Amino acid sequence: MAQKNALDSIISLAKRRGFVFQSSEIYGGLNGCWDYGPLGVELLRNVKDAWWKSMTFRDDIEGVDAAILMHPRTWEASGHVGQFTDPMIDNKTSKARHRADNLIEDYITRLRNKNKNLEADEIERRLGEVESPEDYYTIIMDAGIPDPVSGTTDWTEVRNFNLMFKTFIGPVEDTSAVVYLRPETAQGIFVNFKNVVDSSRQKIPFGIAQIGKAFRNEINTKNFLFRTREFEQMEMQYFVAPGTEAQQFEQWREIRLNWFFGLGMKPDSLRLKPHDKLAHYANAAVDIEYQFPFGWGEIEGIHSRTDFDLQRHQEYSGKKMEYVDASTNERYVPYVIETSAGASRSFMAFLCNAFSEETVTDEKGGSETRTVLRFSPRLAPVKAAVFPLVNREGMPELGEKLYKELQQNFAVQFDDKGAVGRRYRRQDEIGTPYCITVDGQSLEDGTVTVRERDSMQQQRIAISNVRHYLLDALM
Ligand code: ATP
Repeated sequence: MAQKNALDSIISLAKRRGFVFQSSEIYGGLNGCWDYGPLGVELLRNVKDAWWKSMTFRDDIEGVDAAILMHPRTWEASGHVGQFTDPMIDNKTSKARHRADNLIEDYITRLRNKNKNLEADEIERRLGEVESPEDYYTIIMDAGIPDPVSGTTDWTEVRNFNLMFKTFIGPVEDTSAVVYLRPETAQGIFVNFKNVVDSSRQKIPFGIAQIGKAFRNEINTKNFLFRTREFEQMEMQYFVAPGTEAQQFEQWREIRLNWFFGLGMKPDSLRLKPHDKLAHYANAAVDIEYQFPFGWGEIEGIHSRTDFDLQRHQEYSGKKMEYVDASTNERYVPYVIETSAGASRSFMAFLCNAFSEETVTDEKGGSETRTVLRFSPRLAPVKAAVFPLVNREGMPELGEKLYKELQQNFAVQFDDKGAVGRRYRRQDEIGTPYCITVDGQSLEDGTVTVRERDSMQQQRIAISNVRHYLLDALM
């Protein structure tokens, strides 16, 4: 299947089965915003739960949930007011607006696809040296990069565009009332560093984790949930003693990569990509990239941010951000290793990773396409489904009883509509790991069949054992 079609199939499945809908669809949708439907919200919650537990079920990490609106000085200190910008360019003929760096990167990919590697290398080298919007413009004009819409090189100059959404606090809409929707969750952690030190018993090294919404007024949104204007992040800042950051960076890189693998990511679908160009405050940075149907894309960044953020907050707030080591009496502003993952992008990566279409034999001996979401059982939105084989002879009642019992522990569905084969397909399509059928034999000997999603193997077990069986299998 062509890669592009794979994404289309995933998006259409996501809509049809209630994972993701376009935001405000009845009004024509709102660009860059998506809604999670009944199954999507469960999948997203499972991704976030898995992350939250992997972080906070450790002795050395605490959680917080900071407000989305923060004091505007926060964003001056963090550098977002001045520098959280993307370079923007418009084509005068088509009026299409692009991010200049993405326009160049896409052009490089097209050159490589045509085996024009020397030319691509040269443009890539220049891209790595860009310092100002004008530098992007020069590259675009020198290389003669055309607008993908109009095909012309009739470009405006490149301008920096700040990605933060602005709003006003209180009734008066003047500059003193400006606040921003946070573009990342990290700053809510930094500003609470002292509060957490003072209220918990943590000693360095320790971390603070947070999951929450972030907003960026992206110039172009594209590729479904990959680049949106409202999204969720799962971020953790690990505070360490200066000089230990290199070793901590390596450790977190491995932990985070293994977290994805532990939730079923295929071995070749992830790679680590060190940043070509480090931000001025970082001394190491790497992205975890997933191979989406449209190509490799970042799902998480791991950054060694030195003491930049705490120093800046110390400077802008006038409040000390130092840590005192009680055993040595040493005082210092800690260094930080940050693991910054998108919950929404991870959701999309897990969805793509799970999606598969295969040809199987149908009930009449012909062939049919089986669409399966092969989620790790921990992520699957529905853990099991109960089917009475037929709607008589006490099977629905027995099935319903089992369903109600399982519902106390798991997200389960009950389905008594249509042929069992079709009910299996419906569950395969949403990634339910186990389907339990109550049949004639169940009434005689108290057993049911349990069918596993991926192997499609069935086995008979006692009804009284189903709960334990699932508890075991879903761990
Ligand atoms: P990109 O280069 O793709 O814009 P970034 O390097 O700006 O991403 P970070 O600021 O490091 O991203 O954000 C951390 C994580 O937040 C990313 O790895 C990604 O998973 C997620 N993220 C960032 N921007 C968006 C967005 N517009 N839509 C969805 N997720 C996003």
